[in-house]
Amino acid sequence: MRTAESVIVRKSPGELEAMEEGGRITSSCLKMLSENVRAGVTTRELDRLAEEFIQDHGGKPEFKGYQGFPASICASPNAMIVHGIPGSYRLKDGDIISLDVGVRYRGFVTDSATTVAVGEVPEDAAGLLAVTRECFAEAAEQVRADNRLGDIGHAIQSVAEARGYGVVRDLVSHGVGRKMHEDPQIPNYGSPGTGPPLMPGMVFAIEPMITLGGYEIRMSEWDGWSIYTADGSLSAHYEHTVAVTEHGPRILTNGA
Ligand code: MG
Ligand code: MG
Repeated sequence: MRTAESVIVRKSPGELEAMEEGGRITSSCLKMLSENVRAGVTTRELDRLAEEFIQDHGGKPEFKGYQGFPASICASPNAMIVHGIPGSYRLKDGDIISLDVGVRYRGFVTDSATTVAVGEVPEDAAGLLAVTRECFAEAAEQVRADNRLGDIGHAIQSVAEARGYGVVRDLVSHGVGRKMHEDPQIPNYGSPGTGPPLMPGMVFAIEPMITLGGYEIRMSEWDGWSIYTADGSLSAHYEHTVAVTEHGPRILTNGA
């Protein structure tokens, strides 16, 4: 049996630099998309903007064609958690919309997502967006040499559940590098001090998916991609690509 440690690929300083350059494209694309979120815009229009932006900056939209995925971004409104296919859905005031972008650049993938309010949103939705960012921030703080993998999920679960939010369990954070999904899979819940130790050069896409209800999910039978909360509650998603370095966590998709 191979151990979990043996399959977590560590990136060299030069490789991390390439990822940081690619990460700037990813983060500026997400910033551009967020600025274009408004009532009346379709998710297909956002997808087209993203595809042009990524290509104009010398990157490749990694999602397009990934296991047959037909678009360059995932766009997941309201009770849809992740993997929404952009299309004719027209954003309206009060929606929240998760936008997920993956860019391949110089051979490496960076992966980042944010959830944006469309116009004025109800107080509970605004609270959900805030707590999801906070879950990410607490988790990113754990991305340090000599911490263990379980510390990441534990941080997310602690922040969310202490305030009564649900943590989606069937979808995970993950290693990222030459492939979009590398080992390890990182549950967004768990016990501190467990799992393999973190070492410089490891890179993870940390992505809490938090709900106003429970953690069960439902896959769309209609398109085979979109994943919703089973109870129909609102869900938010926030993600960055984060490296373990000698000097602590380094967020590679924060450069916008
Ligand atoms: Mg993503
Ligand atoms: Mg990801």
